[in-house]
Amino acid sequence: MRRVTILGATGSIGQNTIDLIRREPNAYKVVALTGGANIARLAADARALGAELAVTAYDDRLEELRDALAGTGIEAAAGAEAVIDAARRPADWIMSAIVGAAGLAPGLAALEQGTTLALANKESLVCAGALVLETARRHGARLLPVDSEHSAVFQALVGEDIDAVERIVITASGGAFRDWPLERLARATVAEASSHPNWDMGQRITIDSASMFNKALEVIETREFFGVNPEQIEVLVHPESMVHALVGFVDGALMAHVGAPDMRHAIGYALHWPERRALPVPRLDLAAVGQMTFRAPDEARYPALRLARTVMEMGGLAGSVFNAAKERSLDLFIDGRIGFLDMAAIVERVLDRFAAQGSHVNAAMTLDNVLQTDHLARVWAEEAMVEKAG
Ligand code: NAD
Ligand code: MG
Repeated sequence: MRRVTILGATGSIGQNTIDLIRREPNAYKVVALTGGANIARLAADARALGAELAVTAYDDRLEELRDALAGTGIEAAAGAEAVIDAARRPADWIMSAIVGAAGLAPGLAALEQGTTLALANKESLVCAGALVLETARRHGARLLPVDSEHSAVFQALVGEDIDAVERIVITASGGAFRDWPLERLARATVAEASSHPNWDMGQRITIDSASMFNKALEVIETREFFGVNPEQIEVLVHPESMVHALVGFVDGALMAHVGAPDMRHAIGYALHWPERRALPVPRLDLAAVGQMTFRAPDEARYPALRLARTVMEMGGLAGSVFNAAKERSLDLFIDGRIGFLDMAAIVERVLDRFAAQGSHVNAAMTLDNVLQTDHLARVWAEEAMVEKAG
């Protein structure tokens, strides 16, 4: 039996992962499940899957988790350190599906045990790509992409030579506001930004899809994961979300990955890799689909894409600054303290402030430096909000 752990088990990716694992109860032994505030979900899944350990990220929820697991023999733990400890428990396959920079330290702990890490948490590559890759290399761990675009690229590259790649094209649905008039965007509400036309995902990534901050993170993720140059990465708006990515080769060929928008495809590919096995995802009937459309992204609508280019030029810890300022701006938007367009404006101000203080960005990429930079960028995002209002 394969020993598996799911970090971020109660979220959208975590639940899709559990859906696949539950279909083959004899194939997997669940080591640990981690979650956040949804104790009922965490405990129910830990019971159903017979997990060894369940961890909530919140210290003050430990009693509640213990009560919910009473009589089962399943260990309960709480807090950020306990999540990292869960990632250290020996497992053959670990899903990294915590949202945000909070996924970085547990992901690194998982890599340090030299296992296979299925990486949905794109933020860890954005914040600390070199550190993540170096940790994997040093410990002989394997990193598999779970983001749908990156899984698509990874699949298109099977049997190919990375040196024969000319460009990588990742697609974007355009999110909730792709057809809105630009002048309406400033007044977009949290509820409006939280509904995605094609994908059913967690709230934060759904809002990031509307602003294209998600795609901006994915451009940086592409650079880190596949080691290509920024100029080789293109974003293409494709409202139907059926072509997930395309790889262009030096002979002009484009290899596309086409499939229904269902994350169990990318998760299942990472779960069964290097084999390809049957998955319970909808099959596409292209005759019924009829047409697929593509267009270039409008940078006036999506300033996040331009900012991603700046971040790649800056290098060093700029990715951590970018992600943290984005996360804090997203909190501020969700809390109703800033408007939708203010998110990009604040992130840009924070990046400018870091660029003016080159020493921060150029500090060595250690976990401590990344976390310190992350903290500072969040404070600066708050300050940028106050300045903007003042
Ligand atoms: P989600 O919000 O649905 O779930 C997030 C999970 O992380 C939950 O289990 C939550 O309890 C946990 N969590 C939140 N804050 C935490 C903290 N501080 N410490 C520890 N755990 C914490 O998010 P999601 O949509 O499943 O996304 C998870 C990751 O996968 C993100 O990095 C996202 O960008 C990426 N991703 C998601 C999708 C998707 O379809 N949902 C697609 C591609 C990539
Ligand atoms: Mg994606």
